[in-house]
Amino acid sequence: MRIFVLDSTVFYSGADLPPDSVAYVTSMILEEVGHKDRLEALMASGKVRVLDPDERYVERARELARGTGDLLKLSEADLSIVALSLELKEKGVEFSVVSDDSSVRNLLERVGVKTEGVEFELRFLADWIKYCPACGRVYGPEKEYCEVCGTKLKVKARRKKLFKG
Ligand SMILES: [Zn+2]
Repeated sequence: MRIFVLDSTVFYSGADLPPDSVAYVTSMILEEVGHKDRLEALMASGKVRVLDPDERYVERARELARGTGDLLKLSEADLSIVALSLELKEKGVEFSVVSDDSSVRNLLERVGVKTEGVEFELRFLADWIKYCPACGRVYGPEKEYCEVCGTKLKVKARRKKLFKG
């Protein structure tokens, strides 16, 4: 069982969670997510759970960010992820944090928490393909325009494994 702590950016990308994994978000992250459909499906399946850090870890995260000069760049939601990570680490949980926020990632790497950003998306976006909305041809992720008709390609899921158990 792999454990992830997720930033809200994960829900904007098409990234899926790997099988046999569970992910935690804080209530503040939950509030940040705009389109909640994906998130709600993941929560209903039990793959995403809400977990909030203890207040003393929030304070510790704040101190840490103040020390590195990152405090001004971090929102309260960002801090909640850092705090939750500090708490999980102290409890000996093996996990990694998925975030595209460089301040969050720098801060966490500094205290020895594993983080993933684009790498995570590249790995779990494998089931997303590009297609031409005009002529229907399918392309790999590297193409931007249809080779035949020149239309800008769109992205869609090949399989929506997200909604299967
Ligand atoms: Zn085309």
